[in-house]
Amino acid sequence: MEYMLWLDQLSKDSGNIGGGKAANLGKMVKIRLPVPEAFIITTKAFNKFLEVSGIRSQIKELLEECDVENTSQLLETSKKIKDIILAQEIPYPIKSEITETYKALSYSNKIVSEEALKLISAGRDLAIVSVRSSATSEDLPSASFAGQFATFLNVKGIKELLDSVKECWASLYESRAIFYRIKHGFKHSSIALIVQKMVNSEKSGVMFTTNPATGEDVVLIEATWGFGEMLVSGAVQPDSYIVSKKGEIFEKKIGKKGRMRIRDYASDRTIEISVPRNKINEQVLTEGEILKLLNYALRLENHYKRGQDIEFAIEKNRIYILQTRAITTEAKKEKIIIKAEPILKGIGVSPGVVTGKVMIIHDLEDISKVKSGDILVTRMTSPDLVPTMSKCAAIITDEGSTTCHAAIVSREMNIPCIVGTRDGTKMFKDGQLITLDSYKGLIYSGKVEIEKQKIEVPIGLKTATKIKVNLAFPKNLEEIVKKTDGVGLLRIEHAIINSRVHPAKLIGEGRKEEYIKILLDVIRPITKAFYPKPVWVRTLDVRSDEFRNLEGGEAEVQEANPMLGWHGIRRSLDEPKLLKTEFEAIKILHEEGLTNTHVMLPFIISVEEFRKAKEIAKEVELPESVKIGIMVEVPSAAISIEDFCKEGIDFASIGSNDLTQTTLGVDRNNAKILGLFNELHPAMLKLMENVIRVCNKYKVESSICGEAPSNKPKIIKFLIKYGITSISVNIDAIEKTRKVIFDAEKESKLIKERT
Ligand code: PEP
Ligand code: MG
Repeated sequence: MEYMLWLDQLSKDSGNIGGGKAANLGKMVKIRLPVPEAFIITTKAFNKFLEVSGIRSQIKELLEECDVENTSQLLETSKKIKDIILAQEIPYPIKSEITETYKALSYSNKIVSEEALKLISAGRDLAIVSVRSSATSEDLPSASFAGQFATFLNVKGIKELLDSVKECWASLYESRAIFYRIKHGFKHSSIALIVQKMVNSEKSGVMFTTNPATGEDVVLIEATWGFGEMLVSGAVQPDSYIVSKKGEIFEKKIGKKGRMRIRDYASDRTIEISVPRNKINEQVLTEGEILKLLNYALRLENHYKRGQDIEFAIEKNRIYILQTRAITTEAKKEKIIIKAEPILKGIGVSPGVVTGKVMIIHDLEDISKVKSGDILVTRMTSPDLVPTMSKCAAIITDEGSTTCHAAIVSREMNIPCIVGTRDGTKMFKDGQLITLDSYKGLIYSGKVEIEKQKIEVPIGLKTATKIKVNLAFPKNLEEIVKKTDGVGLLRIEHAIINSRVHPAKLIGEGRKEEYIKILLDVIRPITKAFYPKPVWVRTLDVRSDEFRNLEGGEAEVQEANPMLGWHGIRRSLDEPKLLKTEFEAIKILHEEGLTNTHVMLPFIISVEEFRKAKEIAKEVELPESVKIGIMVEVPSAAISIEDFCKEGIDFASIGSNDLTQTTLGVDRNNAKILGLFNELHPAMLKLMENVIRVCNKYKVESSICGEAPSNKPKIIKFLIKYGITSISVNIDAIEKTRKVIFDAEKESKLIKERT
């Protein structure tokens, strides 16, 4: 076959011939998700059709002459092009391939026996299919093209299929699609079609792996009875379930599902009927179904490493995944304080706060009255309204939910939107001034006073590399926990310096409990907030010049160069009572159940030191659940990393501050030679590459916790290429690091192999 492809024949490079939507379906088949059987009529078929019929240049000319801002001209051009397409015959080789492949699909077998062919040719047993577009620029992470092209459901028989194919091809030139492409700067490229066996959905719905309205890292599922178009059309209030990624169902809202679309057995057509009374307020999904769906959602999110928006259907207790695409927006979160009383409530689905004049649209004839900056109020939006929506400051609809057309498109256009107000179109008058807060779904009369606090919440960007944080104090933990995968460096020395007493003095005076308390007061709240995410507590690493100012610090040795002096693990081994006390504090936390607390040894230079530290851990009976890792801060550790791995370190974290100092011989405290302090020095890259590759070989987690990735994001690209497991950065660098890691992973083949 030259113009058709089965789903499992698609590869990651098929985007140009199968289109975005088909490529996604193909990927889902590969990762063994239950996708209904389908074949693709490739873009090659459409291109051939244009070529054989000789209409390509005619279409091009019509498009060039059209001013898309002029609505009537746009509608006329669109109609002309569609008519030209519909008037053509599908050329022979394509027509026959479509027919044969459809028969094979109907027979659920790609090789059709003679006998089966006879049955099928008689017109019986032909599958009921859907015909959907899969344009080459559709379902891209940056634009969803929601509802832009034609979709035909319940298509049966060869003639109907061929007609639908032509209609679908023609829909590449729907006025709204032409407008959308021009506005988004896409080419009027080509179109592939998906012919897929219809699931006779008893239930259907949509899932988001990140709550698109709030940016929270939870899975949001919406479901209703019958076919899913009811959801997108916004005509029902679906059930909505909020599920944690660990499988706890946080929230269940049972919607009022008054109408449903089903297949009418007599005509094989989709019909809309009232939902039987006892089912209107009944929960659509069982808990088992919710958990199964969660599993599929997480598999998809994991695969794409980004938030996904997924459609599903259930027939005879079997779940089918119909499509998936990246969540198209990154929600900006603002904290809004409005003291007025709201006059109307709905569901906020695209965040923002706006004041403007209402313009009510009852039907498409009203669109000319909408001016730029108006707040569009309507029963429900449709693809034809998209050009008008793009001019508006905000959108309010009577009907709908998080997944309806208005919600998807407004999120994509970054326009605040509230759906499901029930009474918006009745309550407001044209020209009325209102303010809406779509974070909360509230509408106020007139212009109200607004206090805004901006918080950026990165959503949708999932990375394979873990993002951790460097901490010293238990502050603002709730916010930080949400954004990170653990603590890659917990510096305890700040708490000790704040206590103003030298720990050796406390121990020497038999005040060990006080030292334990100082330690627990900083470590416990952090491991508790992060549980079960790991927290790597670094054992004491204070330099003698820093210790000297503490009570009892007078006895500190005078060192010519404290940076390369008596600190880190070498000192801890010389003063084992201090190290033992630190281990005891960690033991207490494990006994309390905070088994995510682990130990990291600083400034280590030999396997011998690691071995000794382990012996001390044994003496205090530090539980097995405590992982013990090392910091790589000296070339000796970086070069001998294989020996450390063989000795049984649980992880290795590059301390790039000290490693740069020790590798380049540049005192990190000496401002005069600051210009020489370069974490990207080729020798540094070689050492880091060695550490990461060897750790990967021994399946030991590798990380970095110096300032380098926070201050010099360029280094991240290298670390990702080498295959680092996690990157730990300062609190203020978390967000920007996520983006840099995301882009670096996309670029790196190595990561693809690893994940
Ligand atoms: C480092 O050396 O990179 C590190 C993280 O430790 P500190 O900066 O505390 O010496
Ligand atoms: Mg250091």
